[in-house]
Amino acid sequence: MDAPGKSAGLVAILLLQLMGCGSAAVAQPSATPLELVVLGSGGPGATGRAASSYLVLIDGVARILIDAGPGSFARLGESKISLAHTDIVLLTHLHIDHAGELPGLFKARAVSSSGPIVFKVFGPDGSQAQAHGAYFPSTQQLLDLLFGPQGAFAYLRDFSAPVTIQAHDIPARVSMNAVPRVVFKDGAFTITAIAGHHGDAPAVMYRIDCAGRSVTFSGDVDAKGLPNLLKIAKASDLLVFNSAVLDPPGSPAILYTLHTAPHAIGELARQAGVHGLLLSHLSPATEGMHQAVLESIRRTYSGPVSWAEDGMRLQPPSSGP
Ligand SMILES: [Zn+2]
Ligand SMILES: [Zn+2]
Repeated sequence: MDAPGKSAGLVAILLLQLMGCGSAAVAQPSATPLELVVLGSGGPGATGRAASSYLVLIDGVARILIDAGPGSFARLGESKISLAHTDIVLLTHLHIDHAGELPGLFKARAVSSSGPIVFKVFGPDGSQAQAHGAYFPSTQQLLDLLFGPQGAFAYLRDFSAPVTIQAHDIPARVSMNAVPRVVFKDGAFTITAIAGHHGDAPAVMYRIDCAGRSVTFSGDVDAKGLPNLLKIAKASDLLVFNSAVLDPPGSPAILYTLHTAPHAIGELARQAGVHGLLLSHLSPATEGMHQAVLESIRRTYSGPVSWAEDGMRLQPPSSGP
């Protein structure tokens, strides 16, 4: 945490207004319209944190899963949050630390209710193997490899409840003229997306708007993705920024082709005018260097900054203990 006052400010600014924004069928009027739950605040290394994963609750109902990093299945159970109405999955990219727990979480969802399930899964399109880049399946291909008729876990479609998966590939090539586009809308909550950039891995960044508030997810992003992040994060109430490296030369050079250094995180947050930063995807490199990371961000960004923890819930103070 930056400071108790700043953290409390971040929680306070996140949330939200009395008017809800979810579907009337499952709305809980007394609940917070938009709430973020951190299931996994870590990255690829096994450091005791689950890898990248979040839930967004709309009117107190877990509707949206963002990424599915290993370990998030256990954190989900610890959270006591039901997946019975979770029907939207947003994948930032298909690295294992962001997508490896999909089978476990899909099965957890499948056994959480008896009715038919229709998953709407959004994620990047794929890429062919090149001289300096790996092959990545598209999101549709990944879901087919996992749960399709010939997929590794084809049985899941009829195991507990009828499961239908609607996979949507989002173009993941950055271009000068790209603008965030709406990929899903339900009542008053809207999900927009734009291409990110993360080395050779096709990547997408997302923003969820609800009841006049918003949360944006950078995903893993390198310098080439920052212009698009600036567009989608504009004036967002919370920007969840993956913070995996130190300022140069503090981390291995190769990592700067994949991630964003603290000084650039601060600059982006300032330019975008975000109202709060949550640093996540925490690696051993940043784990022991919180003060240095914060000082670098503070050179340009003066808003609230917090560090993600597994199980963290960002909700109004009035609903806390
Ligand atoms: Zn990652
Ligand atoms: Zn990655």
